[in-house]
Parts: sequence; structure tokens; C-alpha cells
Amino acid sequence: MTNLKLEVIKYAKKLNDTNLSPLRSGNVSVRTDLSGKEGFFITPSGIKYNDLQEDKIVFLEMDEKKNEQKIIDLGLNPSSEWKFHQDIYINKPDAIAIVHAHSPFATAVSAHGKNIPAFHYMVALAGGNDIKCADYATFGTKQLSKNIIQALNERKGCLMSNHGQVAFGKNLDQAFELAEEIENICHQYINTIKLGNPKILSFEEMNKILEKTKNYKKN
Ligand code: 13P
Ligand code: ZN
Repeated sequence: MTNLKLEVIKYAKKLNDTNLSPLRSGNVSVRTDLSGKEGFFITPSGIKYNDLQEDKIVFLEMDEKKNEQKIIDLGLNPSSEWKFHQDIYINKPDAIAIVHAHSPFATAVSAHGKNIPAFHYMVALAGGNDIKCADYATFGTKQLSKNIIQALNERKGCLMSNHGQVAFGKNLDQAFELAEEIENICHQYINTIKLGNPKILSFEEMNKILEKTKNYKKN
């Protein structure tokens, strides 16, 4: 059976190795069941990914009040963003893994607080005809979590204003890949707007793309 704590460590290290999130920034989690309790494993707060060991990965349940008490009582050190990870799992039954990154191009676009329109058909990978940017709120707060849930309406990934991006998937590999795709799209978007206002694909065309990507097979 896959050791999910080791999987979380593998993808957290990949955040650094691929330059998707430098140093201690970003965080990774995966939904799981521990002794019959539904919850998730999440990276610890403020620890360099290269120093991660299995015992540093924190298990939290799907209950905010319980988690708040448990974190104090047991002196746990989950990622400061555990609330939005928890709320994504609660609100999105198809979210099995989550990757949050301060990837350079997504962060640059997020600083403008704007949604990314359908300037390229690959925008559909995030689940719709644009990629939303969640309104700014202080990191680690319930307000940030609320803003992210709103931006993820019918989406699997979004930007976070003046902060970065978050993506989810059916496993860590998928969540990570979507975060990489969002980063590429942001890079392309920055180049695109340097040339002026791009042509935006119609709703009709994007709906066609969304249908096609549903059946797009990956090896
Ligand atoms: P943590 O180290 O607490 O996960 O914080 C990193 C981060 O990206 C906060 O938004
Ligand atoms: Zn962050």
C-alpha cells in the first residue's frame, strides 16, 4: 500500500526541485482515513522541504473546531494554510490532493487580482472558461479560505490575489500537474498581454474544449 506521508514529502520536495515554489513557501496535502477518521495529511509549517521527515507530516480531521483544539493540545505544527485545505476537501468531493504554490508567473498575475480569460484553450484545464483569482485575505485565515472556495466554484484551480495559486486533483500527481499547467498558462498570459489586448475565445468554443478535455486520455 502507498505510504501517503512519503507521497506528501515527495511532492513537497518537487515544489522546490521544479522551482514551482521556492524555499519554505507553498504546501501539499492528501485526503486520507486514519483509524476510521476522515481527514488529510498536510505538510508542516515553515519547514524546509529538504528537511521533511515522516513524523513532521500532520494528520487533521474535517472538523475545524476539533483541529484548532488538537493543534494546541498536541502542539502540532500543520501548514498555516490548513483551513483552506480542509475547506476544499469539505466542499469538493473530487479533491483528493491539493498543491499550493508561490510559483513565479502565477504570483505575478495574482498581484493584479484579475481572472485569466480564455486567451488560450488550455485555460479549460482548470475547469472553466477562465481561471479565477480569489480576493486577497491574510494567509492562514478563514477569510482566505472563503475567498478560495468562491474562486473554485466549478474549477479545480485558481489564483490567490497577491499570493500565488492553488490546484487540486484526484491524486497528488494530478494536483501537481495542474499547478504546473497554471504556471505555464500564467507565463504565456504575461507574454500575451505585452503585445496588447489578446483575442479571447468565445464561451461556445470553450464549452467545446471543456467537453473534449473530459475525454482527453493521459498516459
Ligand atoms: P506554511 O509553511 O505554513 O505551509 O506556509 C507557506 C505558505 O505558502 C503560506 O501561504
Ligand atoms: Zn502561500
